[in-house]
Amino acid sequence: MNPGASRDFFMPMRIFDNSKTAIMVTMENDASVRNWFDSLSHNNPLVIAGPCSAETEDQVMEIARGLVGSGVGFYRAGIWKPRTRPGGFEGVGAIGLKWLVRAKAETGLPMAVEVANAAHVKLALEHDIDMLWIGARTTVNPFAVQEIADALQGTDKIVLVKNPVNPDLALWIGGIERLYQAGIRNLGAVHRGFSTYEKTKYRNIPEWQIAIELQSRFPHLPVICDPSHITGRRDMIREVSQQALDLNYDGLMIETHIDPDNAWSDAAQQVTPSSLKEIFSQLRIRNKTTQEASFHEEIAKLRAQIDAADTKLLEILGSRMKVAEKIGALKKSENVAVLQTRRWIEVLEKMMAEGERQGLSKDFVIRYFKAVHQESITHQEKIINQ
Ligand code: PEP
Ligand code: MN
Repeated sequence: MNPGASRDFFMPMRIFDNSKTAIMVTMENDASVRNWFDSLSHNNPLVIAGPCSAETEDQVMEIARGLVGSGVGFYRAGIWKPRTRPGGFEGVGAIGLKWLVRAKAETGLPMAVEVANAAHVKLALEHDIDMLWIGARTTVNPFAVQEIADALQGTDKIVLVKNPVNPDLALWIGGIERLYQAGIRNLGAVHRGFSTYEKTKYRNIPEWQIAIELQSRFPHLPVICDPSHITGRRDMIREVSQQALDLNYDGLMIETHIDPDNAWSDAAQQVTPSSLKEIFSQLRIRNKTTQEASFHEEIAKLRAQIDAADTKLLEILGSRMKVAEKIGALKKSENVAVLQTRRWIEVLEKMMAEGERQGLSKDFVIRYFKAVHQESITHQEKIINQ
């Protein structure tokens, strides 16, 4: 992953203000991408809920009725389902749009669907669907995203872009940028986690830092977390939703089904409308900041301590790498291979035990030492190949 890679690809758009002075508006500083979000009179955070897939008209209607009055801002349902392997339920198709039109007429909930090509866009627009999202398997494909952007050219519908399945921030940004360049200003990003070969407790690991980098680059862009696809398990939805709120996310997309166990797709991760209400009642919504002077004084002191600790960490890492270079020189003199697997396993085991004593999570210690070990190898290789 190279988070900075797309920075150079940005095409600033030149516009003129009233004084005819040219000002550069890039997606990064364009606050208008947030207007749709700010103008909604919803409870904070914005919640998009509804089934993974529309299955039958009754199922669509029942879930929508179950969500009325629970603070949900948009009703989601997949009509066309991208399935990893053939043979799964691939969605009911265009007929489902009629059910959504009916659900909106009855409940007043605005509707959201996934679109993956120009034909989907055309049908969704014909049915006046309020919000469209681009799924993770589509965001990976710039041809598909461009086709969707062209079909949506200048629309005032809300368009959300899910992160690509792989942890590639540039690809995610590229997708959003294609829409922006097609004149679409009601934009948002959905963080649904990233697939990985490693087995973790998540279905798709969150890699929060990637989404944080997106938020720092595009401070106005609304960012929604999808804890359903991150966790793949309904018993973890609350925990991940809370993490998202703690990280200042603007909203949540949560798959909701009247009979989750018998859902035609993503059964393990869907919750009932009543569990969704229960989850909402447990979530703590954080303030973005506070006027309290003592808070600012105290946090400034603590941040100074963090900065000092981080500087010390880097100094220690720097001197650790100097030792690695001496080891590299020694290996060079005896023509010994850089990677010594047994030693590496020993280090990792020792440090995992030490990490536990220090109150650090196992997951973090493993990732941290993998990165340190890789850096060490790089330093040794430089020496050995000199
Ligand atoms: C979905 O939202 O049902 C979906 C298919 O999600 P994703 O694109 O995140 O896999
Ligand atoms: Mn799903």
